[in-house]
Amino acid sequence: MSQFLSSIEMNEDRFLALLENLISVSKQLQNSPSQGLIPREDLASDHVLALLEPHSTRNGGVLEVERVTFVEGRGNIIIKYPGSSDRTVAFIGSHLDVVPADPSGWSRDPFKLTREGDMLYGRGTTDCLGHVAMLTDLMVSLATNKPALTNSIVVVFIANEENGTFKGVGVDQLAREGYLDNLKNGPVFWVDAADSQPCIGTAGSAQWEMKVGGKLFHSGLPHKGINAIELAMDSVSYVQRKFFQDFPRHPREAEYNFATQSTFKATQISCPPSSLNQIPGGCTIQGDIRISPFYDIREVMNKIESYVEAISKDPSIVENPEVRGPHSKYVLPGEMNGKVSFKWVVEGDNGIACRLDSKGYSALLQATEEVLGSVKPYSIGGSLPLIRDLQDLGFDVQISGYGISSRYHADNEAASLSDLKCATRIISKVSFHFIMFTKIVWPNVFIFRSYLSWSNSKFDSLHWRCIMNSDSGIVWFRVSYTGNMFQ
Ligand SMILES: [Zn+2]
Repeated sequence: MSQFLSSIEMNEDRFLALLENLISVSKQLQNSPSQGLIPREDLASDHVLALLEPHSTRNGGVLEVERVTFVEGRGNIIIKYPGSSDRTVAFIGSHLDVVPADPSGWSRDPFKLTREGDMLYGRGTTDCLGHVAMLTDLMVSLATNKPALTNSIVVVFIANEENGTFKGVGVDQLAREGYLDNLKNGPVFWVDAADSQPCIGTAGSAQWEMKVGGKLFHSGLPHKGINAIELAMDSVSYVQRKFFQDFPRHPREAEYNFATQSTFKATQISCPPSSLNQIPGGCTIQGDIRISPFYDIREVMNKIESYVEAISKDPSIVENPEVRGPHSKYVLPGEMNGKVSFKWVVEGDNGIACRLDSKGYSALLQATEEVLGSVKPYSIGGSLPLIRDLQDLGFDVQISGYGISSRYHADNEAASLSDLKCATRIISKVSFHFIMFTKIVWPNVFIFRSYLSWSNSKFDSLHWRCIMNSDSGIVWFRVSYTGNMFQ
């Protein structure tokens, strides 16, 4: 019966009707507390629940549907299609909130679904209401056809993905309170990426601010001032030089197909206003770091702080006469030193490297290749901190998504209907392949090999295999030797 999973197609009308309802409330789903926008995710999940309710166990159906609320009006939705064992295949991470949309930058109404050929426009079509509608439609198909499955299929829609300021609303709290514990019995696919290919790695990130104090002075007497802009630029260059020495491209980044290595860079600069013929006395530079998941971000942050400490102790180490000329000094002997202070603007999060030896990952590769004709796993310099938290808690997290990366958080956000139709087929086939990989079919065995040798024996080598039947749990050993005992 699990074969049914390999042939599920999207019900296009049902999907589009749901997506239209979801986008129609997306104005109230905008998540940006600093702009006073606090989403009411229940407005979206009411539409999801309305579609699922006839199939829920409460109404004699098969779906176990639960809204879990930690903050009023901002619930998460857990949907379970039960299997015959406690094993699971889970799809989580599709979220009910959206980033803000400023209609003045749009050529369509952001809060209304507009279809133009294959393209579906509206805030949330790609990130992430299109995924919510696609997965809901898939669960209705399962509930309608009721295939007998060994694994439960579980979908979790989450609140508050787009803002990290408030904790305790969405997936972090679900995990903390144990709602996701049973999903450790199978892979967890995080469905909120783009471009339909498996995403296997993301970067860690943190943001920083450097404040530089110089000495404001007449520009015609540069030897008597300390140019804060120049000190800031040379301090950043010094930190960058050290950073790229200490954190070069990590050998494992090639295996994960990372386009870029870890970086430290400035992204904003500002100065108190003064006249063009004055040497500036102050400057603030801000920026971020993007760190490969194979480095620990705490270690990186500590190192960066140590580079800045060295500059603070003696700013002359970053003086750069070759570029700035002989009069640009950061220490005025007997008078003052330039000042460089540094702080982190956010806590910082580690990146994630998905497990490539996971059967869930194999299932995702196979399903993607079958539907799209090719599979090209990729890694990104963007960060998905919520996923790293789940991985640290012991979940086997894999990442995929079927939006369009260039439309993420963009004006005129859009998704492709045909991509989302393929997504239905990929997600169903992922479940199918994963179940088949782990299915109790003789002789499906896990084989561990070891190698023993007796140096003083005529037996060169002896192999033993531990063979476990994943159905019955029976374990036995098979011993063989491959050495030549008569040499
Ligand atoms: Zn998203």
